[in-house]
Amino acid sequence: MTTDTTTDATAEEEQVSFADLNLGPELLRALTGLGYEEPTPIQREAIPPLLEGNDLLGQAATGTGKTAAFALPVLERIPRNRKERAPAALVLVPTRELAIQVSEAVHRYGSDMGIRVLPVYGGQPIGRQLRSLERGVDVVVATPGRALDHIARGTLRLDELRTVVLDEADEMLDMGFSEDIDSILENVPEDRQTVLFSATMPDRIDSMARRHLREPVRIQIEREAPAPGEAPKIRESAYVVRRAQKPAALGRLLDLEAPEAAIVFCRTREQVDQLAETLNGRGYRAEALHGGLSQEQRDRVMGRLRGGTADLLVATDVAARGIDVEHLTHVVNYDVPSAPESYVHRIGRVGRAGREGVAIMLAEPREHRQLKAIERATGRRIPVESVPSIADLRARRLELTRASLHESILEDEDLDRFRVVVETLADDFDVMDVALAAVKLAHEASGAAVDEEEIPEVAPMERGRERAPRGRKGGGPPSRGMTRLFVGAGRSAGMRPQDLVGAIAGETQLSGRDIGAIEIADRFSLVEVPDNAAPEVIRALRGSTIKGRKPVVRRERPQNR
Ligand code: AMP
Repeated sequence: MTTDTTTDATAEEEQVSFADLNLGPELLRALTGLGYEEPTPIQREAIPPLLEGNDLLGQAATGTGKTAAFALPVLERIPRNRKERAPAALVLVPTRELAIQVSEAVHRYGSDMGIRVLPVYGGQPIGRQLRSLERGVDVVVATPGRALDHIARGTLRLDELRTVVLDEADEMLDMGFSEDIDSILENVPEDRQTVLFSATMPDRIDSMARRHLREPVRIQIEREAPAPGEAPKIRESAYVVRRAQKPAALGRLLDLEAPEAAIVFCRTREQVDQLAETLNGRGYRAEALHGGLSQEQRDRVMGRLRGGTADLLVATDVAARGIDVEHLTHVVNYDVPSAPESYVHRIGRVGRAGREGVAIMLAEPREHRQLKAIERATGRRIPVESVPSIADLRARRLELTRASLHESILEDEDLDRFRVVVETLADDFDVMDVALAAVKLAHEASGAAVDEEEIPEVAPMERGRERAPRGRKGGGPPSRGMTRLFVGAGRSAGMRPQDLVGAIAGETQLSGRDIGAIEIADRFSLVEVPDNAAPEVIRALRGSTIKGRKPVVRRERPQNR
């Protein structure tokens, strides 16, 4: 028998706090310290049954908060001051990058509990892992291949396991880890709890769940669309940018859109504070609003917004709940929201009373799936647009200068006192030249200088991997700061982008996110990596086997193409 849980975003349910979920004081302190204000939908749904020891089958993608959804109950169930050396929990993940990310998260959440966590993945010297395992750990986060190595050596013992988590199970199957997972799970105690998270639920995942899970609670975090006709009048768009470029991209969009008043949503208090500071540093009038502020501080913020001394509110969902900004024109999702329903709530703040509102979303390449989930849930496509270029900005700023001159000509009553200046100059110059010089000075005085660098365009990642950026396939120089490498194996050898990403991320310090455009041709492949990492990548790839061969790897020479 399986228990079916459907998520429903009623207002009531949204008020659930982490404390309501029966998490202990250490974890609650850690979450407050991290600035998490309330559980995401997957956390609300998954944490209670997991704390009770149920198995769980969850469909959720990156960005939904699924890591904490399994990590918090895993941690809560580990006895305090545990002395055993063999781990109590094993998390299996597809890549080294994710292994590191998940163990960092477990470490952060468990910091007050003295939890010992260890990432275990291929490519890292096995000696260090051996020593840590020998000293004793509570949680191991491992890629399946390396986990099996340790199991075979007897260095990873499974007999104390209380929970096994399969994270991004569909990715693990795609990467060929199915048998490894089966053989690991054959050796774990019968009475352990098993948790499986996957962004997609193909039949193969279902049958894996049937083999290894017992009466799992099922959770699916994608939701049906709100009733048609409810959709407010909102112009929606998304921009795919790397994390480091987000502040610059936001600045450009704000310049171009020139919102009357906007709310920028972030996930955590820290992000809110940081972004408000960055925006103020860039000359915007931004106010931070989050659950850490006293009522008095909140009132002051809202007063500044209403009084027009601030035009941007940077806020968490919780803090923004219940406030009403009447002249709000823009909603910015600085991250892809953790669930489609919070997207719908956020953007519902504009486009009221028949006025058009604008909803902007900044997505990192790896958040592609969440973007798609939102589109499915709302039944609307969110067009992915290019971040405004320097040329767009220049044009826009000139347009603003033109508009203010236009207004001045129409409405300024004391223009006449400048007549003498124009007349004197007109003795020596053409009036057109006089006008040009005056416009230039006015333009510059409005702070309209453009001295920024172009923001590179990146494509959303399919299935968690990055593809070649739009419009650059088949040629052109590599992106700024990137070196393009030639790898002597292509489609005819069965090479796929994920093989290259896997090989590079598995063998070097780089993570999937550092890897740039990939192009697979018939007989060879090209991959962009950061300039300073190129020698390391070349060395590593030359020493590795990809698709069963040792390919030629070198810097790309343009005549190859
Ligand atoms: P994940 O889906 O697990 O990859 O998490 C996505 C991001 O959301 C991570 O950066 C987490 O730190 C963050 N996050 C997870 N849960 C919450 C929460 N309840 N409130 C705010 N941020 C969260």
